Amino acid sequence: MKLSGPVSKMHTCLEGRSVLYTLPVGNEKLSMNQLLGLQLSIRFTGQISCIKCGSKTKKSFAQGYCYRCFAAAPETEECVLRPELCRAHLGQARDMQYAKLNCLTGQYVYISVTSGAKVGVTRQKQLLTRWADQGAERAATIALAPNRYTAGLIEVILKEHFSDKTSWQKLLKYPAPKDIDIAAEAARACVILPESLRQHCLHQQIAAELEYPVLGYPAKITAANLDKDSCAGGKLCGIKGQYLIFEGGQVINIRKYGGYHIEMEW
Ligand SMILES: [Zn+2]
Repeated sequence: MKLSGPVSKMHTCLEGRSVLYTLPVGNEKLSMNQLLGLQLSIRFTGQISCIKCGSKTKKSFAQGYCYRCFAAAPETEECVLRPELCRAHLGQARDMQYAKLNCLTGQYVYISVTSGAKVGVTRQKQLLTRWADQGAERAATIALAPNRYTAGLIEVILKEHFSDKTSWQKLLKYPAPKDIDIAAEAARACVILPESLRQHCLHQQIAAELEYPVLGYPAKITAANLDKDSCAGGKLCGIKGQYLIFEGGQVINIRKYGGYHIEMEW
């Protein structure tokens, strides 16, 4: 079978605890879990289209944008990566309409177990999607802040006590550590916060355990680079976060190649 067109990040949904992946390629949406164990090849044609405006671009910025959109679109504003810099609560944003839906709404501060325990912030509606996107095997909410800025303030304090990063190498080589008591960690996080922020802590945590379609973890991994080699693939032995894991240890971060035109064969 063959599919071609611009690719974008995989969509996820849950069936029980199992994460189901769908990969958009051109106008098609491919169920990825069914490809597990099969030979799969991905070839980059050399063309990139901006995931926002669709225009051709030589280089992709922030995982799929042309330079113009990267510099002006609300999706790439500073507060996406650093919530504490959000100014929407002061009435300032690239696009206030967008900010109303994305920054001036409830934001969860959570703890998740990816390569280790880490803290993060996400929009209220995005919670499970966010956890699946990062390959978290377990996660629990800590607080529900009224806007992105406040969630950022909480995260900044928690970052002094918890990691906020995932080691992608560890994530793709091992299952998540089992010895982290996530409920206890979430409770510990709340105690650290000053009174003014602790009021946003949740009495009733939302917790989840997620299972990824992984047949086996490779001993060594190398990241595919479509810009350099234009090809990636092999026998698909796992999907975790936004990564495809191939037998032999090649991995590809699909999200990184948003807007890349590919030819996929399996
Ligand atoms: Zn664009």
